[in-house]
Amino acid sequence: MMRGPSGALVLITLQWSGVKTFYIETFGCQMNAHDSEKVVGTLLSQGYQQVPTPDEAELVFYNTCSIRDKAEQKVFHRLDQFKRNGKGKTFAVLGCVAQQEGEKIFEKAPHVSLVCGSASYNKLPELLVQLETGGRRVTGLSLDTEDTFETPFARRDNPHRAYLTIIEGCDKSCAYCVVPFTRGPERSRTGESVVAEARELAKMGYTEVQLLGQNVNSYRDPSPAGWDFAALLRQVAEKSGLRRVRFTTSHPRDFVKDIVDAIDENPVLCNHVHLPVQSGSTRILDAMQRLYTREEYMKRIEWMKAATRPIAITTDIIVGFPGETEEDLEATLDLLAQVRYDAIFGFKYSRRPNTPALALDDQIPEEEKTRRLAIVLEKQRAIQIEQNAAYVGTIEDCLVEGFNKATGQWIGRTSQHKTLNFLRPGSGQDILGQYVDVRVTRAGPNSLAGECVN
Ligand code: SAM
Ligand code: SF4
Repeated sequence: MMRGPSGALVLITLQWSGVKTFYIETFGCQMNAHDSEKVVGTLLSQGYQQVPTPDEAELVFYNTCSIRDKAEQKVFHRLDQFKRNGKGKTFAVLGCVAQQEGEKIFEKAPHVSLVCGSASYNKLPELLVQLETGGRRVTGLSLDTEDTFETPFARRDNPHRAYLTIIEGCDKSCAYCVVPFTRGPERSRTGESVVAEARELAKMGYTEVQLLGQNVNSYRDPSPAGWDFAALLRQVAEKSGLRRVRFTTSHPRDFVKDIVDAIDENPVLCNHVHLPVQSGSTRILDAMQRLYTREEYMKRIEWMKAATRPIAITTDIIVGFPGETEEDLEATLDLLAQVRYDAIFGFKYSRRPNTPALALDDQIPEEEKTRRLAIVLEKQRAIQIEQNAAYVGTIEDCLVEGFNKATGQWIGRTSQHKTLNFLRPGSGQDILGQYVDVRVTRAGPNSLAGECVN
């Protein structure tokens, strides 16, 4: 699928001389996972066949992440494994490392033939034709696109919960972050196309949809309707026929009270908000160019705590940003105690190319970052034990997502995005994908356990 001169989508049929099998491995966030679903769907629609291992594949894709140095190194380790024994295969690097490193990848890994960033995925079929006709160093690296990668072919991995992109790219410039360089400027899809896709997904049997974007809160419908994110949430919840709608990720600066009101009014909207804070110190937030103070962030937490529905709140924390003092770390620990998050993702600051923080003095040594992260995670673990204990005795509505053969427990997901493992005695019935009520009987730091009551 590609855009013709009129902007219309046209199908290109590839006649790849014998090369029809592909393998794809995905690194990183949900945005990457969903991009891969779209890439897979596009390739399948072109007659390619997906295989489960790179050994069986003629075309090997790596959809990469460069958010931290470790993530970036993973793809080069993978490619190294094929330096000698990759003959006859074609290697393609997609995603954030592709965009960030560009043609340098051909120097580092000469057996790579295609390098393509996410903003150019709608050109993939065209780029594959170039490969087919003998191209050796094919690139799709332009970021100046108005397009979003909308395709009717996404091949979704999960049969019950579907990802749905509403906005691509990011217009913020957090001092540590590569995303604006790897995913380009913000582009929102029309509200109408989002609602139509959500409806289509409901018709196909999906019951839960997760709306995706680097900053969903700055969503703005480009059509005359001009919906903001809260309006889009209401429309999707009311018009799609879905049972659950969730979203990620929110930037605190653009998180308005109307979003909390929409969640409070409509039970289809899951009562969980991931609101990355990064640090509890206003001084560090300022250095990070996050565009809010600790107090402004806490205001948003208060809106959620005042809601009628109990809203689960999760966050991201970075420790060891340049110049972070013991006092700043204390402020972060104090924030954890004040907010009492349901879960956090903690990261050690990683220096990234092109980012403003690269030039900052006072980098924190690696072992000190490790120490700080351990303190943060330990503090949060104690909070989660207490938070989850409060659910014992409650009955939760769960989407059944899996079955653990080893423990004989079903794996459920609550609207608040908690994992609830449960027994269902006396029934061998397959309940995957169904919604059941589960009484919580035990709680650990990372999950709940219980028994099905229906
Ligand atoms: N757009 C989201 C936001 O504004 O919060 C975040 C997207 S980013 C893919 C996910 C998380 O990775 C961030 O919230 C941040 O905690 C972490 N992260 C990003 N850059 C990082 C870096 N250079 N070092 C460590 N963690 C980083
Ligand atoms: Fe990165 Fe900040 Fe954009 Fe999130 S808002 S993707 S952290 S630049």
